[in-house]
Amino acid sequence: MTTFVFDFAEGNKELKDLLGGKGANLAEMTNLGLPVPPGFTISTEACRAFLVEGKEPDQLATEIAEHLRALEDKMGRRLGDPTDPLLVSVRSGAKFSMPGMMETVLDVGLNDESVVGLANQSGDERFAADSYRRLLQMFGGTVLGIEHDAFADRLDALKKRRGVIADTELGVEDLRELIAEYKVVIREHTGEDFPQEPAEQLRLCVLAVFKSWNTPRAALYRRQERIADDLGTAVNIQAMVFGNRGATSGSGVAFTRDPASGAPGVYGDYLTNAQGEDVVAGIRNTVPLADLEQIDPPSYRQLMDIMAKLEKHYRDMCDIEFTIEEGKLWMLQTRVGKRTPEAAVRIAVHMAEELLIDRDEAMLRVTGHQLAALMFPRFAPDPERRSVATGMNASPGAAVGRVVLDSATAVEWAGRGEKVILVRKETNPDDLHGMVVSQGILTSRGGKTSHAAVVARGMGRTCVCGAEALDVDPENRRFIVRNGPVVNEGDVISIDGSTGEVFLGEVPVSDSAVVRKLEGEDVDDPVAHAVARLLMHADEVRRLDVRANADTPEDAQRSRRFGASGIGLCRTEHMFLGDRRELVEHLIVAEDEAGQAAALDKLLPLQRQDFTEIFEAMDGLPVTIRLIDPPLHEFLPDLTELAVHVALADERHIEDEHDRKLLQAVKRLHEQNPMLGLRGVRLGITIPGLFLMQARAIAEAAAARVLAGGDPRPEIMVPLVSTERELALVRAQLEEVVAAVLDEQGVELHIPIGTMIEIPRAAVTADKIAHWADFFSFGTNDLTQMTWGFSRDDVESEFFAAYLEKGVFTASPFESIDVEGVGALVRTAAELGRKAKPGLHLGVCGEHGGDPESIHFFDSVGLDYVSCSPFRVPVARWEAARSVLAARASGPGSDVR
Ligand code: ADP
Ligand code: MG
Ligand code: MG
Repeated sequence: MTTFVFDFAEGNKELKDLLGGKGANLAEMTNLGLPVPPGFTISTEACRAFLVEGKEPDQLATEIAEHLRALEDKMGRRLGDPTDPLLVSVRSGAKFSMPGMMETVLDVGLNDESVVGLANQSGDERFAADSYRRLLQMFGGTVLGIEHDAFADRLDALKKRRGVIADTELGVEDLRELIAEYKVVIREHTGEDFPQEPAEQLRLCVLAVFKSWNTPRAALYRRQERIADDLGTAVNIQAMVFGNRGATSGSGVAFTRDPASGAPGVYGDYLTNAQGEDVVAGIRNTVPLADLEQIDPPSYRQLMDIMAKLEKHYRDMCDIEFTIEEGKLWMLQTRVGKRTPEAAVRIAVHMAEELLIDRDEAMLRVTGHQLAALMFPRFAPDPERRSVATGMNASPGAAVGRVVLDSATAVEWAGRGEKVILVRKETNPDDLHGMVVSQGILTSRGGKTSHAAVVARGMGRTCVCGAEALDVDPENRRFIVRNGPVVNEGDVISIDGSTGEVFLGEVPVSDSAVVRKLEGEDVDDPVAHAVARLLMHADEVRRLDVRANADTPEDAQRSRRFGASGIGLCRTEHMFLGDRRELVEHLIVAEDEAGQAAALDKLLPLQRQDFTEIFEAMDGLPVTIRLIDPPLHEFLPDLTELAVHVALADERHIEDEHDRKLLQAVKRLHEQNPMLGLRGVRLGITIPGLFLMQARAIAEAAAARVLAGGDPRPEIMVPLVSTERELALVRAQLEEVVAAVLDEQGVELHIPIGTMIEIPRAAVTADKIAHWADFFSFGTNDLTQMTWGFSRDDVESEFFAAYLEKGVFTASPFESIDVEGVGALVRTAAELGRKAKPGLHLGVCGEHGGDPESIHFFDSVGLDYVSCSPFRVPVARWEAARSVLAARASGPGSDVR
């Protein structure tokens, strides 16, 4: 038979699945011999059984009763005993910490009789009454579901009647009056009296904690943090200790290192004469932990010893909660502490230096997401700066601009060169044009999966959402900060997408020290140095190569500095924009082959120059050049504008042959679904001259570099192939041109020709396609669009937010690869391709190439490299190493989350 209840002495820190994080760590501390008030844990399994069956498992009550009896024996007190009562706390605790999401009830076991016993035993009537009113309040709110305001309002009214400000100023009679009122509140709301029977109180608390797993806010939080819905929570029942018993008592929280900067040295807050929840709730002002050294030297010394011991034991920075009851120290919680990205890096490197962990472990401790956050520009640090409001850190970065309250205004002001921040209650698809032109987006509603958050992340815009303290008032062109200033349209604000903070005025922005260091600058910044050191280690560990998506010499150089071992995707389309547009127009409107050839002849030297510069920047490294991919009409003027232009010219009897032909071409090339239209290899087959001009430019540029003593390594990549026949046709022509050029120039060079795999049909026939390909590169953006059958540009703004909200998917498949669907196609294509051609070189060049979770997947299917935007290159090097380490460890603690 399953056991559902475990004494603290029976558990350990590895049992988080079963005992939850809090329970597992309370057990660990107990077994380390630390002073933990005794207690027991009801397992997550019991919770899951309850949630599935709608009632407690049969033997649960018996098991709880047995453990309670043992606890009573150990404490020498009985729960709710009228003369000397044992009180307990009932504390939720899931596998992953979900701060503020679930419930805890303190002082369980008090009733009309035991409150007298507690007063007698402690010799403190006020303390007893205060504990009872706290129980009624917490029990009423948490267990009985009564609005917390119903109690808070009574307390406020009483304080007003007595003319006092703090609840500590209320006397014992006042508290008794409050207790009576609270009982009335409970009766009015539930039709029943507060349960006097302690065992019944306990049972109801346990069930309430179980149920709190499924509250809407807990479910939403899990979705945002990607925590599975079916884990359930454990419940910890623990003997109460009291920090609210006068000047020799108190409660505190502490970290074994600074969780903000990562600097060594303990860090924390302490509050005299208080229960733990007062510290966290910020009811009174705390003092720095260091002051405890004066307040209670023995407890302070003991605490320091314990913290050192915990850090050694956990080999990580720990976060603890403690209470001192009349000079006796009690440990109430510990866990590996949350930290900022800076702190994560510094702590990992320090601990490696202290030989507490090795370098591999240090790498595992810092996620690629954290590294990425360190690479954004940020607000220059200033300890004096105060935010006026805080929302969710929905999309990182530091944005400064003038407040605009609707998208039309954003577009108008941005059009005249203003930097703007779009402030809305929430955004919807109509706001898209306003979001595009804004530096950042700030909303007062919605979480990390709201429209604003999803779209901003997709666009790489800074976003703070759900800043509830803001009352956004577009009618009056302003927003009001609760208990704070009024901010008018046009005022400058600054928002920090990495912390969620909102500041008035312009906060100076500085480049990331990590980026400057990686760019080769001499920076004096411990975090930047630590990152550089860990990256060197990452390069020793990783199996995957990392290339960059770059199509200018500047980006190529930057990628190189960031550690890319080549270019995995050099797009050529931008090379046809600007003043070259006109040449493309001539190509398109040409009536015969001679006309086309003339236009291509003019494009050739320009293209050659493009490639020469890139080969120079990437000398000795591979450069995969993708032949032109987008539909041609993208290079032509807008249909409506052109039509108007031509009509006006007609009116004035101006003959413009070129424009007239252009208009015909635009009409001819117009497509209903351009993403599925005449593009990629389809262009190469229907207008072969274009591809061949590009191939000639590549070969000529490469030959010239060789003759100049360089080491160019071009690779030609054909986009949008669906069937082997397409690639076979195009390849033959490309090979011919390349051979001719190399022959002309007298240069020997192997230029591999490969294909993108970005259409599902290509993925499932990859063995056939491999026959004609020297390499595959997965274009996971198109592959995702085509597999799901939706166009990214449309869906992200239209319904992704709703899909995420409703849990259709937990992350956008454009951000993180959909392993089950799109990933299966990648795996299939890789296997088929390599079966047909062992050693076939495989890479990925979609944006997923820079996404931490996706990189682990690509590593696991055996790709040779990932290619991503230059700024993502360090992140990809990092995650490629973590993927190896995680796979190696693949036991407890190897979680990549
Ligand atoms: P959370 O998960 O929200 O931190 P906890 O279960 O840790 O909730 O409880 C909140 C606070 O209640 C703790 O910080 C602690 O100070 C206090 N508390 C919990 N159990 C006890 C106990 N047995 N004795 C004294 N205080 C307790
Ligand atoms: Mg806690
Ligand atoms: Mg594509």
